[in-house]
Amino acid sequence: MTFDELGLNDLIQDALYYMGFEKATPIQEQAIPAILDKRDLLACAQTGTGKTAAFILPVLNELSERPSKRTRCVVIAPTRELVIQIDQQIQAFSYFAGVGTIPVYGGTSGKEFEQEKKALAHGADIVVATPGKLITHLNFKYTDFSQVEYLILDEADRMLDMGFHDDIMRIVKHMPKTRQNLLFSATMPPKIRSLSKAMLNNPFEISIAISKPSAGILQAAYLTHDEQKAKLIRKLINDKPAYKSILVFSSTKKNVGTIVRAISKQGYEVAAVSSDLDQKEREAALRSFKSKQTRVIVATDVLSRGIDVADINLVINYDVPRDAEDYVHRIGRTARADTTGVAITLINQDDMYKFSKIEKLIEQEIVKLKVPEEMGTSPEWNPKKSSYGGAGRGKSGGKSGGRSGGNRNKSNSRNKKR
Ligand code: AMP
Repeated sequence: MTFDELGLNDLIQDALYYMGFEKATPIQEQAIPAILDKRDLLACAQTGTGKTAAFILPVLNELSERPSKRTRCVVIAPTRELVIQIDQQIQAFSYFAGVGTIPVYGGTSGKEFEQEKKALAHGADIVVATPGKLITHLNFKYTDFSQVEYLILDEADRMLDMGFHDDIMRIVKHMPKTRQNLLFSATMPPKIRSLSKAMLNNPFEISIAISKPSAGILQAAYLTHDEQKAKLIRKLINDKPAYKSILVFSSTKKNVGTIVRAISKQGYEVAAVSSDLDQKEREAALRSFKSKQTRVIVATDVLSRGIDVADINLVINYDVPRDAEDYVHRIGRTARADTTGVAITLINQDDMYKFSKIEKLIEQEIVKLKVPEEMGTSPEWNPKKSSYGGAGRGKSGGKSGGRSGGNRNKSNSRNKKR
């Protein structure tokens, strides 16, 4: 379906044209008319489905038709990276729609806090925030959410996992009771159902996500002992000179440093993203990876959802993620859209049971390889012997700073350019 058929106004059509969006994705086809129809929404959809535009476009459509100086839409997302990404997408579209946006997230300086404070006090049309940092601002009482018309929760399951339920409820108390609520979640566990019951009014339901990796991902696993992992990663990277973008996931922050050292030893450009780094370092690392200046990036699960980097050729899981869903999110960073990609998971004895749960979830048996002979012997595949749980994972929360954004330039040159 084309966007013309979805009832979006000319300003938005211009933006879509310049962004190169020609056809709506399935979630956009379903969500946009429902949102324009003022329905609450409960959407089960993962990153990569086009869910961000699915909620941004109809909201911008409405806000662009009624300019105002008040905050009318609040988007809450679990991590700073996701907040930045949503804010950037809004900025790209709102160049045409003339709607202002401000990102509010954590880990920034006093100066940036003051910028956020100024923007919140004056009212930006759309505020995109992590829950913790938004609460900090709300506590100072200069933020006015009394005119909010839209509340959007993105990656709601992730936010509940990170313990943000009470923060979300406190934020909601600052908003009018009558508003449109849009809840997006990659999974639909009972706690999301309860949140939806508490917050949504007769929601229109959409389910796009299925927890299956895309068919374009070639998956394999190596059975390894921990001490073989560094060597194996080096070999995997060495053997694939054609792979220009490689993403290595670690469940723990501690191992991120170990992996970075192992890779840089070989002279490769490698960056890291974990909550141990300050915000500027994380942003710089992501920028250089996205622009292909850095070939390898090592990350904790903070990157597994929500972050959109094009053309990742290879995802290496240094360990098996605790939740089977996270596996799908991690390897979903490769083979976006119609491209192909490779995902390789390193499995030690302790992780075998977890990996067998993943295979069950994705209804697929993954080929298990032994380490090359020169590295010694592999453990035998025996999922029953391993303990469930393993090491805790290094989730990082996006609690808190920012910069204001928003363009008010209007243009209607799409038709002319055509
Ligand atoms: P999301 O699932 O929102 O993270 O979107 C994934 C990627 O798809 C982003 O880079 C979007 O800019 C892009 N995208 C979303 N919708 C469309 C569309 N209809 N046509 C082309 N690209 C899209």
